[in-house]
Amino acid sequence: MTTQITHVAKPSGRWGIIDGVSVWSQVVGQPAAVAELQAAAERAAGVRFSDELDDGAAGPGAGMTHSWLFTGPPGSGRSVAARAFAAALQCPHQGCGECSACHTVMAGTHADVREIVPEGLSIKVDEVRTTIDIAARRPTTARWQIVIVEDADRLTEQASNALLKSVEEPAERTVFLLCCPSEHPDDISVTIRSRCRIVRLRSPAPEAIAAVLVERDGIPEADATWAASVCGGHIGRARRLARVPEAREERDAVLALPRALRSPADAFAASDAMVGAAETEAAALAASRDEAEREELAVSLGAGGTGKGTAQAQRSARAAEKDLEKKQKSRLTRTKRDALDRALVDLAGYYRDVLVRGVGASVTSTHPDRATEIGNAARDNTPESSLRRLEAILACRDALAANVKPEIAIDALVTALRAG
Ligand SMILES: [Zn+2]
Repeated sequence: MTTQITHVAKPSGRWGIIDGVSVWSQVVGQPAAVAELQAAAERAAGVRFSDELDDGAAGPGAGMTHSWLFTGPPGSGRSVAARAFAAALQCPHQGCGECSACHTVMAGTHADVREIVPEGLSIKVDEVRTTIDIAARRPTTARWQIVIVEDADRLTEQASNALLKSVEEPAERTVFLLCCPSEHPDDISVTIRSRCRIVRLRSPAPEAIAAVLVERDGIPEADATWAASVCGGHIGRARRLARVPEAREERDAVLALPRALRSPADAFAASDAMVGAAETEAAALAASRDEAEREELAVSLGAGGTGKGTAQAQRSARAAEKDLEKKQKSRLTRTKRDALDRALVDLAGYYRDVLVRGVGASVTSTHPDRATEIGNAARDNTPESSLRRLEAILACRDALAANVKPEIAIDALVTALRAG
């Protein structure tokens, strides 16, 4: 596998930067948000703290917003925008892209920028507490102590409450950058939201995505243009589609389902293939990370001691291994579910295209490379049946989110899709 930078599997979002290019160039197709964040970073550079206040100056930390909420659809680059902003806050030149602050923040190794990234289905309260304790301290070298919470919509209620306390009364140099799909109460608690300044990202335009694939990733223009046109505004997905043959095969498998519906045997074979592809993808992504983590743990436990206290050490080693296994299992479940969800989004895009074609609306299509097939389907099906199929797909996503077994949810979906 040549790349795995997708929303599903990014290894906690390590992007790195191109030398000499401002950190903002990483934030693709978001001119309004970038302008807002640049201005905020400039202003933050002028903020004075209690230990450096002159007489008559405003209160310590005045003029700084301590909690930010980055919202936008998956793949719009929420966490990249948050990281670029963090770099701009720590950089002496507000995000030059050249200094060590910029490099380390973007690489995820800056001492005063902490990230909470959910690896399982949720972010647990312990994870949040540990980070919050550190976040309350003074930064070691930089101006700010920054906490980035990726996928804040996965905070458990307890974790959310723990976070709320710090967000309500932040230390003077602490900044929270939360990322989630929307500001809807399903995604973020109303009380946390009300404490945050909101930065709204949109799905970047295909042209902006294609340009970044060509310029940053060196992908040939034709591949980049195609991938950008079918990725649904998801940059990581576009990159994967352009580079990884398996990703294209998975997409083909999903889009084969509508054609297969005519025969029950074909339909269930196609849905099995779809579930199978999601599982294979998730397993492949998990395997490489799991192995590395086991090795790391073995090293940190110092495998194979024989001296006094060995029995005790072995007991705690076994406990640590159990913990790791549990974490990895939970992450695999999440990766599988995310992969399947993405397949369903592709499928929904197909029926949405059929629907808009059927009613003659002129909007950008989700799968422009399937225009002929979609045109035929629009001719052969009523808009009402396309709508019912779309609803069935949404119901399937809800079922998966509510922990229904994938095989059962997908079988129910196929039955509904066949009924039309
Ligand atoms: Zn810099």
